[in-house]
Amino acid sequence: MTKLKKILPLFLVLILLTSCTNVKNAEHSFFALDTAITIKCSEESAKEIESLVLKYEDILSVTDENSEMYQINSGASTRVSDEFISLFNEAEKISEKTDGAFNFAIYPIVYEWGFTTKNYKIPEKEKLDTLLSKIDFTKFKINGNIINVENGAMLDFGGIAKGYICDEAVKLLKSKGENNALISLGGNVYALGSKDGKDWQVAIKDPFSEGYAGILNVQNKAVVTSGDYERYFEKNGKRYHHIIDPSTGYPAENSLKSVTIVSDSATLADGYSTALFVIGFEKAMEFYRQEQNFEAIFIFDDGEIYATEGLSDSFKKE
Ligand code: AMP
Ligand code: MG
Repeated sequence: MTKLKKILPLFLVLILLTSCTNVKNAEHSFFALDTAITIKCSEESAKEIESLVLKYEDILSVTDENSEMYQINSGASTRVSDEFISLFNEAEKISEKTDGAFNFAIYPIVYEWGFTTKNYKIPEKEKLDTLLSKIDFTKFKINGNIINVENGAMLDFGGIAKGYICDEAVKLLKSKGENNALISLGGNVYALGSKDGKDWQVAIKDPFSEGYAGILNVQNKAVVTSGDYERYFEKNGKRYHHIIDPSTGYPAENSLKSVTIVSDSATLADGYSTALFVIGFEKAMEFYRQEQNFEAIFIFDDGEIYATEGLSDSFKKE
């Protein structure tokens, strides 16, 4: 509920910026994947996207004992769906590409901090050191559709699943000939085509308030943000957030408050926003120059905002 409270203002901003009287492309909303989901498309496609999202929720839930994810994280070798294998392969690619800054086996550490259960605590350093030996993402072996788990390893697709599902929803829309739509899965946005022939306007959240830091004008782009305000607890005046630096086991600590990635792929944007938040601005810019398949907006703890050159015409600060 608190999460919903936090998301709602952004969600309303998004509605405000994209609202339209066109009945065909009305706004559809529901709650799944622990987040608010809004889709602006035809009624029929919205229903199909809702079923798609719920299917993934069934497969990926970390709390439902019947989910494929739950079985794997209980240590069992598990026969999983093609959907699970496909998401696994994407997560593996991003983990390799980012040299493990994105680490899809981070779950033992995320769990220890209580970010899944909301039983927040600062783990003992010794405990974290032990858990660091359990987050080797090469420890999962795939044989057909069977995933074999070694030595207490656990999967965490929390940093990529919403982006991946967003891309799947876009595929679904395109297959139905629907080429203008807006999808938002808790801050993972895909702006498909245009809104009445003009760019979609996507609000970038201000990490310091309930408002927004700027507006992005886009068409056919995913816009995904990772920030230290999305899930956190505070102890002795210090904020402990949910994006973990896999080299230390502690929440990533640098000058960043949020990283937004703009790219053709929501999967890539989701994975990279998490990874770049971990590695910090300087390394993130090296990665940006090397990869050349995304643009980014960085918001710093002193309130500074930096957008990469590819966004100079499309991003307007508030
Ligand atoms: P996001 O909001 O996309 O940045 O994803 C944050 C979520 O990803 C967390 O709640 C964890 O479930 C998971 N996560 C945390 N740290 C990492 C990491 N270094 N690599 C991959 N996933 C992570
Ligand atoms: Mg992410």
